[in-house]
Amino acid sequence: MHRRFIAPGALAAASVLLAIPASAASHSPGAPGIGDPYYPAYGNGGYDVSHYDLRLKYQPATDELEGTATLLARTTQDLSRFNLDFLLDVDEVRVNGAKASFATSGEHELEITPKTPLAKGTAVTVVVRYSGVPSSKQAYGFTSWHRTPDGGVGANEPEAAWWWFPSNDHPLDKATYDVSVLVPDGTQAISNGTLQSTSSRLGWTRFNWRSNKPQATYLATLAVGKFDITTGRTESGIPVVNAYSKDLGDNAGAARASIERTGEVADWLSEYFGPYPFNALGGYVPNTNTGYALETQTRPFYSPRQFANGSNTSVVVHELAHQWYGDLVSVTGWKDIWINEGFARYAQWLWSEHEDEGTAQEIADYVYASHPADDPFWTVKPGDPGPENQFDIAVYDRGALALQALRNEIGDDAFFAVLKGWPQKYAYGNATVADFRTYAEEVSGQSLSALFDTWLFQPSKPAAPAAADASIARAAEGGGAAPVQPKSWKKIAATNDVHEH
Ligand SMILES: [Zn+2]
Repeated sequence: MHRRFIAPGALAAASVLLAIPASAASHSPGAPGIGDPYYPAYGNGGYDVSHYDLRLKYQPATDELEGTATLLARTTQDLSRFNLDFLLDVDEVRVNGAKASFATSGEHELEITPKTPLAKGTAVTVVVRYSGVPSSKQAYGFTSWHRTPDGGVGANEPEAAWWWFPSNDHPLDKATYDVSVLVPDGTQAISNGTLQSTSSRLGWTRFNWRSNKPQATYLATLAVGKFDITTGRTESGIPVVNAYSKDLGDNAGAARASIERTGEVADWLSEYFGPYPFNALGGYVPNTNTGYALETQTRPFYSPRQFANGSNTSVVVHELAHQWYGDLVSVTGWKDIWINEGFARYAQWLWSEHEDEGTAQEIADYVYASHPADDPFWTVKPGDPGPENQFDIAVYDRGALALQALRNEIGDDAFFAVLKGWPQKYAYGNATVADFRTYAEEVSGQSLSALFDTWLFQPSKPAAPAAADASIARAAEGGGAAPVQPKSWKKIAATNDVHEH
């Protein structure tokens, strides 16, 4: 340590001179969005979260949620201030132990100003204490929190976290999670990953869930209610935990007959996509009246309505396919949604083939023939559909059609090598549609820019010659009868209500 003797007045002046440029010039607020052109306010700039520790207490009777969220993060710039995305009422924020000031702005921004500015590249611990009634909060006029007769559920895409924990809400910032939830005895709290332990005291039961692999914020889920829980193991040894609301009525049997096949389906998918990437599996069905299902990591959310017409393993195939295509490898931006939905839908086509209910080729021919050239279906570009069409049916059906065109172009060997290699190449990370094209070109040794452009990026129906080149609609080309509806079609279509606001 160097000791210098400077007159008191000079020291004060020197400090001021040093302090002003250091904090005012180089420390700036983190951006209120992470830079996604579809959703400019989603996520935030200036830091990267590695872990969320959520300690929650939920009262089903009143929908009151209290929580302490501890975020472990690292700064990516000199920060004078930074944002989290959140809707509940914040009582206190601490940054590295010191109380920070905070304010709300926009639809879902929590602006945090630490007592001292944060230098780039340093570890930061943020503690947010909060409470609120999630069902009373809306952003942009909607809610992703589903109130049920016996509790509540947070599950939606792209946004679900705002209603139950503060986050950097974008798939680009993945993290591990510990979710600990205190609920009244007789009620269960379901989340992602493994159930580490439960304990009961004074009428309340605590459920401790852990996700030990990176997980996007929209893939984190919380469901509180009265559930029947089943446990088991896949043939490959992965523990399975499923949860069914006790209140599913006539849908209960069909829901179980579908979701209890989770282990079998995951093992079957791993033949196409490589080893299952997480250490837990399952599914849950709360008593919501929503129509969609969602690939919440390791434990998809299913709506009872998915099973209103009987069992549907196809929807289980769709959500479990996302564990590789969406969860293990996530979108870089929301415009890349095809690398999730095109593949989850194509997995359903493969399952149809497996079940002898129509080959992927037959389904592709049927999709191509079912939509005339003037159908708005063809105006949606699956490779960049725009936020308004992010979950349009074309992203699914035209998206899977593009994969059949790719399969026919590069042949089964290269195609299935791509399907299996891709999840490994970008494991636990993010990727774009362009990354996928590059990878398919690498594996196949073929230039695929024309094929991708035709099937993913043109706002029009690929013309007959392009379809013939890709061996699509062969029956129509040969002057034969229009393709008949494959047997699996209705079950696959029952998965379509994946998203609603
Ligand atoms: Zn999906």
